Amino acid sequence: MITRSPANVQTNTIATRDEPALGWQTQLAQAIRDPRELCRRVGLEPSWLAGAERGHALFEVRVPEAYLQRIRPGDPQDPLLRQVLPRHVEDDTVAGFITDPLDEATQTPRQGVIHKYHGRVLLIASPACAINCRYCFRRHFPYQENSPSRAQWRDSLAYLRRDDSIREAILSGGDPLAANDRQLSWLVEQLADIPHLRRLRIHTRLPVVIPDRVDDALLDWLARTRLQTVVVLHINHANEIDDAVITACARLKALGVTLLNQSVLLHDINDSVDDLEALSERLFNAGILPYYLHVLDPVSGAAHFNVSDDGARRLIDELRTRLPGFLMPRLVREIPGEASKTAL
Ligand code: SF4
Repeated sequence: MITRSPANVQTNTIATRDEPALGWQTQLAQAIRDPRELCRRVGLEPSWLAGAERGHALFEVRVPEAYLQRIRPGDPQDPLLRQVLPRHVEDDTVAGFITDPLDEATQTPRQGVIHKYHGRVLLIASPACAINCRYCFRRHFPYQENSPSRAQWRDSLAYLRRDDSIREAILSGGDPLAANDRQLSWLVEQLADIPHLRRLRIHTRLPVVIPDRVDDALLDWLARTRLQTVVVLHINHANEIDDAVITACARLKALGVTLLNQSVLLHDINDSVDDLEALSERLFNAGILPYYLHVLDPVSGAAHFNVSDDGARRLIDELRTRLPGFLMPRLVREIPGEASKTAL
């Protein structure tokens, strides 16, 4: 039920980027968290609301204004809207789709620490996200049990310090950049103080959904660390990359940060060769290299986003005929207990 009338489009009164920018924390606090408000702002017909409220009851809606501005009003098929709009199908029980598809609950040696792979340890640096993506494999993750206090962080840091096989600390979440810069600066200083750590990796969607997150305070602590820094962004569609995202990426690159991207292959969002080609091209224009294209992790509530393995392989084979090798993401699946991601 698409409502495309000009009158309806005008109801989506979105602030333009010419207006004075709010700080990222204000933008985060003001993110839309009400399905009714989301449906109204993107100009959906009322018939969408019941499904949105049902999905919201399972995993709350959260969409910041800067991301909302990139959604085409009045179009329920918009690839950005589909990533954030709760749907009634999230309540369906589908065989094989479970709450913890990566079995992370058994791989947490310390609160807030996930140690899955040799040489790399993942730290849950923030339980919060700036946006709630409906397909998220951590949509049921018990963040409240993994929000360490400063004392618990010291315990986690001691775990890293004791194991000199660990070369890389990965800040994850939630979204690690949802933490404030004072906390992050402290944590990164502690990590840099561990002699065998070489790299800091930050998995984040914040520079994409609120580009103003890449501000002077963030650049200040990033510039000071001795650790080689890799920022792995999460972008699924070319329409997510607007001028503000390109500017944020340029600021990170100016510090020598390596920028990579991981995407999730999502039905009716990016599961066409044209969409994937446009994404790789646009990523490279923004100074970001495509890294992974994940097939969907089978998390309950997200089965409607699934693309079959055969379909995924066909897409990647055709994509290979269109793009140079350095713009090809690796098609992978994460299998609990495996020593690395598994190529498809
Ligand atoms: S930003 Fe990442 S962790 Fe947060 S909801 Fe989206 S996919 Fe999940």
